[in-house]
Amino acid sequence: MDPVLAGAAGWRDGAPAGHPMEEVLGGLPWLKHALDTALEGTEGLCEGHEHGQRLSAVVVPVFGEDGTQLGVCARLRTLDTPKQPPAGERQAREHLEHQTSVLRATFDSIADGVIVVDLSRRITAFNKRFQEMWGLTDEMLEERDAEKALASAAPLVKDPERFVAGILRRMLPSSEAENSDIVELRDGRVFERKSLPQRLGDTIIGRVWSYRDVTVERHAQAEQARLLAAEQSARERLEESFAVLDTFLNHAPIGLGFIGKDLRFLRLNDALAALHGRRREEEIGRLVREMTPHVASTVEPLMRQVMETGRPIIGLDMTGEVPATPGQQRHWHVSYYPVRTAGGGILGVGAVVVEVTAERHAQAERERLLREAREAVRIRDDFLSIAAHELKTPLTPLKLHLQMMKAQVGAGRLVAQHHVDKALTQVSRLAVLVNDLLDASRIQAGRLELCREPLSLREFVREVLSDFRSTSPLHSLEFEEPGEPLVVMADRGRLAQVLTNLLENAFKYSPTGGTVHLRAERVGGEARVSVRDEGIGIPEDQQAHLFERFFRARNAPISGFGGLGLGLYICHDIIERHGGRIWVESRLEHGSTFHFSLPLAS
Ligand code: ADP
Repeated sequence: MDPVLAGAAGWRDGAPAGHPMEEVLGGLPWLKHALDTALEGTEGLCEGHEHGQRLSAVVVPVFGEDGTQLGVCARLRTLDTPKQPPAGERQAREHLEHQTSVLRATFDSIADGVIVVDLSRRITAFNKRFQEMWGLTDEMLEERDAEKALASAAPLVKDPERFVAGILRRMLPSSEAENSDIVELRDGRVFERKSLPQRLGDTIIGRVWSYRDVTVERHAQAEQARLLAAEQSARERLEESFAVLDTFLNHAPIGLGFIGKDLRFLRLNDALAALHGRRREEEIGRLVREMTPHVASTVEPLMRQVMETGRPIIGLDMTGEVPATPGQQRHWHVSYYPVRTAGGGILGVGAVVVEVTAERHAQAERERLLREAREAVRIRDDFLSIAAHELKTPLTPLKLHLQMMKAQVGAGRLVAQHHVDKALTQVSRLAVLVNDLLDASRIQAGRLELCREPLSLREFVREVLSDFRSTSPLHSLEFEEPGEPLVVMADRGRLAQVLTNLLENAFKYSPTGGTVHLRAERVGGEARVSVRDEGIGIPEDQQAHLFERFFRARNAPISGFGGLGLGLYICHDIIERHGGRIWVESRLEHGSTFHFSLPLAS
């Protein structure tokens, strides 16, 4: 304030700077009023009288660089003696006006809508962008009444009440906060709003709101968020699908795997890993060759073929070993399928492996049982025809001798002794056959009983030999006696049956004659009896079956050698029941030696 104005205002208290305007300009109320008006942004001229002098004043608002009003400037002059303002002052004013217009232009050209409101809720400034954004015409803002402008703008927003309340709250002088928020409009636009106090020095004199239309960004953000959410949900669905797939994959009772182009396991289930004797995690990413070395040379070419041709290989029967069970042949039913992308490109091979080892074993077992059943039927049929033949053989001579005897009696002659003897021999032969059959069925039923007593083998063999008569002049019999009695606990009758059977066989299967050697000896704690002949011998592969029921070696046809194939079966059972062993040594066409051993009685 210059001294002229201070004088005109009647201020005498020194420099007026720092004093309230009301105090300094108390003497010039018309000027104070004009200044108040200018403080609200309106420039003006005013006049008044002071000490008989007509005074006029030009009052203009002063704006800062950022467009906010800093204050007002007033210039006082007398009207009676009009004087041109000094050149410097004019220049300053022009400069100020220039600055103001620049600021105004800048203010109107910025992209944000800005409004400035003072503490008395008067709009002190706004720009064109603000009007456009809120659809507020010049007329609506003419009165500079912030509340009215707010009332016009509020219906545009989605939540008018909140909007109005928020603005009014910020208009309080105490509201120092700088804040920013988002205003959503009914027409879909979205404004980002910033609000901060307007200060003059340290004093808050109003508030500035700026609005930026962020609709496009917001929509872009929303779209991005939507895409993200869609992607997330797609990923979740995918994970879900994988989880479901994994569950099926892992709990499937068959081996399932996905092998990549480089023949590595990319996925596989526990069943397939278990086939290899490993855990699933150990196999993922590993080469087929490393994981299944035993079958890789078979399966790798097949997998390559599927990838090259794009055609599946279904239901292949494979046999091989896996590391889990080395040395064990396993069987699988294997299929390979090409795995394709949606575009048709081949990603790898899907393998489906069904373990059929148990089924194969069961099938083999069934086949074996079937074979055995067929064999049993064959044996039964053979037996029936052999038994019929064997039983019939003695009957023919028996009948013949009986007829001769009848004829002799009919003719009043004496019955010839040899007919009686021959008939009795045939009866004995029949009895032996029938007894063998009975014994075999007793053995089968576990009912063959022994009546054991201490027996000197030396004496016992002598007795048996004295009853034994070779029917052929081609044969001779030698007994190599032991130097000691060789006492065993045995059933006399049954042991005689064994020895007789072995001797009879030795003669029977030596059709061209020869010597039969009989030997009894001590071997360790056992007594051993051996019957050696020089007959047809027994093929090596048949020797293991000799002691089976109804077994007859293939070099002893029924036409040449009679017999039911029961004798050795019965001998075997009798000897075993005595706690002994029976076995054979033989070479085809070089004779046979049958041995049995019994524990010596202590
Ligand atoms: P079989 O009544 O048929 O002789 P066995 O049980 O006594 O019945 O003998 C079984 C089979 O063993 C005979 O059919 C024969 O093939 C063979 N075998 C038994 N003893 C001899 C032997 N000493 N020499 C050669 N083969 C023999």
